[in-house]
Amino acid sequence: MVMDDYSAAAGPDPAGDLAFIPLGGTGEIGMNLNVYRCDGKLLAVDCGIGFGGPENPEVEVMVPDPTWLAERRDRLVGLVVTHAHEDHVGAVAHLWPQLRCPIYAGPFVSAVLRRKLGEAGLLGEARIVTIPLGGRFAAAPFDLQFLRVAHSVPEAQALAIRTRHGLVLHTGDWKLDPEPLIGEPTDEAAFAALGEEGVLAMVCDSTNALVEGHSGSEAEVRRNLAAIIRGLRGRVAVTCFATNVARVESITRAGMAAGRQVALFGRSLRNAEAAARECGYLTDIPPYVPEEEAGYIPDDNLLIICTGSQGEPRSALAKIAADTHQQIALGEGDTVIFSSRMIPGNERGILQMQDLLARRGCRVMTADDHMVHVSGHPARDELKRLYQLVKPKYAVPVHGEWRHLTEHAALARALQTTPVLVEDGDVLQLAPGRPEVVEGVPTGRLAVDNGRLLPLSGGVLAARKRMLFNGVVMASLAVDGAGRVQGTPQVSAPGLLDGDEPLGPQLAAELARAVMDLPSALRREDDALREAARGMLRKAVGRRLRKRPSVEVHLLRV
Ligand SMILES: [Zn+2]
Repeated sequence: MVMDDYSAAAGPDPAGDLAFIPLGGTGEIGMNLNVYRCDGKLLAVDCGIGFGGPENPEVEVMVPDPTWLAERRDRLVGLVVTHAHEDHVGAVAHLWPQLRCPIYAGPFVSAVLRRKLGEAGLLGEARIVTIPLGGRFAAAPFDLQFLRVAHSVPEAQALAIRTRHGLVLHTGDWKLDPEPLIGEPTDEAAFAALGEEGVLAMVCDSTNALVEGHSGSEAEVRRNLAAIIRGLRGRVAVTCFATNVARVESITRAGMAAGRQVALFGRSLRNAEAAARECGYLTDIPPYVPEEEAGYIPDDNLLIICTGSQGEPRSALAKIAADTHQQIALGEGDTVIFSSRMIPGNERGILQMQDLLARRGCRVMTADDHMVHVSGHPARDELKRLYQLVKPKYAVPVHGEWRHLTEHAALARALQTTPVLVEDGDVLQLAPGRPEVVEGVPTGRLAVDNGRLLPLSGGVLAARKRMLFNGVVMASLAVDGAGRVQGTPQVSAPGLLDGDEPLGPQLAAELARAVMDLPSALRREDDALREAARGMLRKAVGRRLRKRPSVEVHLLRV
């Protein structure tokens, strides 16, 4: 059979088409990886991580499976990164070695990415093309233009993709905020200009499609934080997303205005600070107090900004809550402010952390009871405004779970735009003709396991999940050439049996007897003997503990 690779990449229209192919981030939170195809050439937009959460407790960090894209990398003309959030940029260092294409990004994303690629030892290899904010550039056949948007990170940008088939607007994450505090507000004039030019399709953020009204302004949070912190005594700790530089600046100013010295706790905050200063932000903020000096500052004169707003177990705030932090302790009379929202899946970890802090005597303030956070994503009034400016012919809701995507689609329809719902792996042909899903491509998720990438549904992680819930039984068995048991077999079952439980030796004795009862021909065959021993152990454990553990038998022929 001849593999016609071109038609595999170009779909049913070999003369060329324009298609949108989400490989991650549609119908689930995080792990954004979008692909556009024009006349057989491919352009990737964003490349982010996701977290394992309660569904995948065996995994901490996940990335989209890039196999389909990597197999076509000779047609991949570039990767554009819209902004510096982990769910948009976090997987670049993990997946770039398989993609090896130029990376296009604004200055702040470039600064963040250089650090990440440096840590991964890829800085000399990967080429980052830094595009000025709002800049226009080419990755033929794509004619690309960044548009500045407000979000909860500096320098977020939407991407206008011009092709001979029409113009697609990929919004990335955005909101409308007249006072974003860092950077300019969303460039509504540029969006209106696109609307005049004619937009075929808008691929748009759905995160807050269920939220009525407006997302609120970062400036309001700044005023509230200043008022709250001014009235506090004792030590104050505030946690927020590390890359929300405007928020970090607001907290810092609130602390300084209240006569407090400010310290940053946590590596990701220090990395974000460095990237921000490199790009000309935080210029009138004095250097932060080093972690190791914070403990010597009088309680009423100290404010710490720390990582851990999502309950991350290794974060600074997790250590403070557990009272295991080397440099700082919080307790009676101190206050912890969560200037953040709970990302779905993280609720339990966050609430546990807040509970530990309350038990230490800390007062805990959150966005539920104080106005200390606004979302970086558009609520319904903002979505309406963008649709009015851009007037796209078709709307493709992305970046949300299904209830967000469907609600966004209904809103688009009410605004005279035809919505098209897609899921990861759909090849949505946008032109020529009416948009339709013309084929599916394989997608998947990989777990980042200490630098290795493992398929989430693959053998290693499936075994780990099984062990997590059902335990593991390991037996060592020595036999002679005729299969007669030598000495006493050893059976251990970490996660099932304590070392001194009598069941271990009992199972070992049963195993020895069962092996001696096997036909002598079978006992001479390593594989057959090992299989028989495994089956016997699995049954014996199942009978006694009502579990189906993973069973390993190490057979030693002596
Ligand atoms: Zn974002």
